[in-house]
Amino acid sequence: MQVAEDRWSDGVPEHQVSGPVDITELSRSELAGRLAELGLPAFRTGQLWHWIYHRGVTGFEPMTTLARQLRDELAGRFRIGRPVPALEQRSTDGTVKWLFRFADGSEAETVFIPETDRGTLCVSSQVGCTLTCSFCHTGTQRLVRNLTSGEIVGQVLAASDALGAWPSGRAGRPITNIVLMGMGEPLYNLDNVAAALRVISDNEGLSISKRRITLSTSGVVPEIERCGRETGVNLAVSLHAVTDEVRNVLVPINRKWPIAELMQACRDYPGLSNARRITFEYVMLDGINDTPEDARALVRLLGGIPSKINLIPFNPWPGTRYRCSPAPVIARFADIVMKAGYASPVRTPRGRDILAACGQLRSDSERQGRRREPRAGTGVGGDIGTVGI
Ligand code: SAH
Ligand code: SF4
Repeated sequence: MQVAEDRWSDGVPEHQVSGPVDITELSRSELAGRLAELGLPAFRTGQLWHWIYHRGVTGFEPMTTLARQLRDELAGRFRIGRPVPALEQRSTDGTVKWLFRFADGSEAETVFIPETDRGTLCVSSQVGCTLTCSFCHTGTQRLVRNLTSGEIVGQVLAASDALGAWPSGRAGRPITNIVLMGMGEPLYNLDNVAAALRVISDNEGLSISKRRITLSTSGVVPEIERCGRETGVNLAVSLHAVTDEVRNVLVPINRKWPIAELMQACRDYPGLSNARRITFEYVMLDGINDTPEDARALVRLLGGIPSKINLIPFNPWPGTRYRCSPAPVIARFADIVMKAGYASPVRTPRGRDILAACGQLRSDSERQGRRREPRAGTGVGGDIGTVGI
């Protein structure tokens, strides 16, 4: 059987825009190189980054520390990219969900989840997903492409605009944590994701510490080591089953890289320690993966790996064949996991009123007749309340 991710090698296009160079697509050294070509000294790079990533400007006009002539020259050569919020939904519990539209018209979801001690932004790494996990709405989306690094960074910039987060660096800033748990498989777009994370974590960039960034993968085993080495962020793994038989159905990429290989890659994750644990995500599906025996097998499987367990109540979507496990079943499962030493393993659902139907924003945009193709989003971000970092 040809597994779904092979569609990837068919050449999913990356979006290209002609005209002025988008500075958010450039690393700090790439920008320094471009400025050097114009005869500008290195310190201009820091100045531009400060205006863009600490002050949140979207053009050159407000950059008052630069002479007018220089601002005009830069405006002729560069732009500062942002996706536009095609839709925004605010939950009664403070969760905000955006459908961001990129320059080519494609769209992806970003979700902000405020908590007492942190504010987590859940960003997308692809438009749609080439994988076809059977319980996930994103996997049903037809149109897929990688997001560029600037489009990943752009989600943080545009969310910051909407949250009134500028200037950054002050106490009480809204976005303190980033999770790559929106649409897409980040390890199928690792080059762009890693480039974006360098801008997001750089002190002169968005200045969000790597310790506060978590990347979730369905289990792209060959990229896990490079992910740790190149990004240094926390890893979350969408495990969801304890046998290959069940996981092959839930997370079909398991046919290519089965559980034993995935666990070995986790053991070898660079920087893994009791202070830097891997989060194992486990969606609770009624009658599929939720028995006490499954819970005991899960604990055995993770033995020896510094880990956290995140039990995710299944978020149903129209047409799914799955149901969420009943609350007492989740409680019994959680109890076994807790007795094995894993603290608070059940993820608190957030923003249910705006996210109850997965991919709500996308279906809304379909109903409004703004697109013809049937598409769906994931909407999973709303449940990431307790992802521990
Ligand atoms: N592609 C990556 C990251 C995005 S999905 C991955 O699969 O890890 C983020 C998390 O939400 C994953 O653990 C995913 O399995 C889970 N998820 C997807 N659909 C869900 C649903 N309908 N209900 C609950 N969790 C879901
Ligand atoms: Fe893709 Fe993750 Fe959804 Fe699987 S769970 S289809 S990898 S977004």
